[in-house]
Amino acid sequence: MNIDWLELARSEDLVVALDLDGTLVPYAATPDEAVLDDALLELLGRLVELPRATVGVVSGRPRSMLVELARQVPALAIVGEHGAWRTADGVEEDILPPSPELDELEVALRTLVARAPGALLERKRCSICLHWRAVSAASRDVLVTAAETRVEEWLETQPDFERLDGAEILEVRHRAAHKGTALAWLRGRAPVRARAVVLGDDLTDEDMFATLRVADVGVRVGSPGRRTHATAQVADVEEARMLLAWLCAARTRPVGTPPAMITAPVRHDARPGEGFPLLVVSNRLPSDGGGRGREVGGLTSAVEAALTRHHGVWLGWSGRDRDPGLTLTYDDSTAPPRAAFDYPPGWRRTFYGGFCNRALWPLLHCMPGRVHYADEEWRAYVEANRAYANLVASLVSADATIWAQDYHLLLLAQELRRAGHRGRVGLFLHVPFPPRDVLETLPWARPLLGAMLDYDLIGVQTWRAQANLRDSVDGLGLRRPEREPDVRVFPIGIDPDAFASAAGTADAADVAALRAGVGERKLVLGVDRLDYSKGIPERLEAVARLLERFPAWRGQVVFVQVSVPSRADVPEYAELRRRVETLVGRINGTYGEADWVPVRYLYRSYPPGVLAQLYRAADVALVTPLRDGMNLVAKEFVASQDGDDPGVLMLSRFAGAAEEMSDALLTNPYHVDGMAVDLDQALRMEPAERLQRHRALAEVVRARTARTWADDFLGALAEHPLAPRRTRPASWPPPVVAPAAVTAPPPVTPRA
Ligand code: UDP
Repeated sequence: MNIDWLELARSEDLVVALDLDGTLVPYAATPDEAVLDDALLELLGRLVELPRATVGVVSGRPRSMLVELARQVPALAIVGEHGAWRTADGVEEDILPPSPELDELEVALRTLVARAPGALLERKRCSICLHWRAVSAASRDVLVTAAETRVEEWLETQPDFERLDGAEILEVRHRAAHKGTALAWLRGRAPVRARAVVLGDDLTDEDMFATLRVADVGVRVGSPGRRTHATAQVADVEEARMLLAWLCAARTRPVGTPPAMITAPVRHDARPGEGFPLLVVSNRLPSDGGGRGREVGGLTSAVEAALTRHHGVWLGWSGRDRDPGLTLTYDDSTAPPRAAFDYPPGWRRTFYGGFCNRALWPLLHCMPGRVHYADEEWRAYVEANRAYANLVASLVSADATIWAQDYHLLLLAQELRRAGHRGRVGLFLHVPFPPRDVLETLPWARPLLGAMLDYDLIGVQTWRAQANLRDSVDGLGLRRPEREPDVRVFPIGIDPDAFASAAGTADAADVAALRAGVGERKLVLGVDRLDYSKGIPERLEAVARLLERFPAWRGQVVFVQVSVPSRADVPEYAELRRRVETLVGRINGTYGEADWVPVRYLYRSYPPGVLAQLYRAADVALVTPLRDGMNLVAKEFVASQDGDDPGVLMLSRFAGAAEEMSDALLTNPYHVDGMAVDLDQALRMEPAERLQRHRALAEVVRARTARTWADDFLGALAEHPLAPRRTRPASWPPPVVAPAAVTAPPPVTPRA
């Protein structure tokens, strides 16, 4: 980008917005050491004296320091606390009221911090920040995973707040408190046509760069390799100061061109030369690792490995919301590269929380009693799929192969074809697919299923899903004469070696404590997202029934249920949480003794490595969803067992995994009495039978892994020819589709 610096310096009105630390002051070990030296104060003094210039500092420093700066350079406008507080012309303003909502999150995070020596929680008026730089490696994963889960759950019910990930920190702050709003305020103090010059160095400054207008200039200081929304680049603090000194000179007297050190940064919107042959798109990008506790993620690492092998890119939602949103942020510092965007206002509620989670999720899980259909949410779904298609088209050529993940993107292929995409387009459905008469409760079943047929290949988890999908296509009269829909079964797997080796390492502190508490008793384990499809209340009822009907087990078993917070903004999930907690209380109240608590309930999340140890510690895993696409916990449990003394997998017939894992002890989660009897049998199972079942199951888990799943799907997709060449229709994007009309056990023997 060519910038005419002289023209900029002499533009009629100018807004100058400056970050301090890392931009005009070198980073110091503590904020107290990062003094504002005389040369800087003199430079700021010169800037504020410039004719027709509005100069502001936008900084994350403590308020007391900024108040002192305002005293030293009175004409300076200052914005602090990410934009929540500001001062100009001697008047201080709190822009945002304090955020008492954060109190609840603070309490939850303090509990976690108390268990992790070295962790630090910093509460500000409109934000809260967790630091773990000083936490030992052994405790870090557990802390971070639990904190992230809590934060995500809390954010789901708090749309005014957002999460920021920094180096060894996790921050939650009010959405209106970001530097983009600070720049908007500075602009408001200048005439409308003023041009802005913004200098900053870190990710929080990107919020200013992202709101720059065409005539503005953003200068990023340092980090030359990282992509940015800025338009120019200097190397360090010294060069940033030189540039500002030149600006002062150029605005008031004749000078030459600006210092030569200004270069062009790598911009977020810069595309790689040859383009990507493969793009994976999912509603949301997976968490980016970055030292976080995700070392055993099967699906994510399998897709990432496939993308890296094929030089592809992963596109998805950043997890944040912005107005207007949908700006692509492309990052090739990761392998594979990632392209992220923020949701525009409303999508979280209507598209994600609405149509995806209240209509499609229960519908596809065959629970029509739980569906919620709203026209507004269907329209949001159509709009979102179209927007995803636009983003895809802006990132890859019309010949690229596109692999969409899951039920959020059922209309994507149709939208891509309308946009003239010729490359192969595949979909993998991680969830089940219901029979036709359930599907038909959806008012938009026909346009939805019809659009799905624009996919070259649809992968599903089970034969049952394949049969249901094909039957619905035929039953709704959607089969196309020219083309058989290609629906194939690719049961998803895990990385079994990663679980096996993690399970074999020394126990994490949490697991060791749990084992000690359980002692010689039998450990029965459940691990699920807290979702009504997982059948957690039914499972608890079965545990209660076991204790009632087989009293010899009283005092002899401990049931540990790990429930990962999920979708807390959807009312059905909040209700489920209450129901589960009440049941746990009831069982413990009814059967508990002074020295024995029957149910240990953990409402939190563990990193996969710790889960592997938990799986290995368990005698029985209760994996009893009412319906599930696959259920990876079942496979992870098997992979984590000690092959010489394996635990027993009790598996719902309605989990996709049951098709492959028929050697598990299959159970019917709708039948509480039956589950109690099956659990009794699992607890009593002889070593020979345990070994025999485990061997068969381990073979299944090893035969089809996450990696073979990704390779098989991409291989099958590559068999399809490219779509015929066609030109983009004149009226694209097309109008939003209107909804169609609707019509007595033996004594316990400890394991050898
Ligand atoms: N999981 C986790 N930490 C936990 C509980 C679960 O990382 O504390 C992971 C687990 O290892 C598994 C995934 O969450 O990979 C759950 O996948 P599954 O297919 O069982 O159910 P889903 O949540 O996708 O419906």
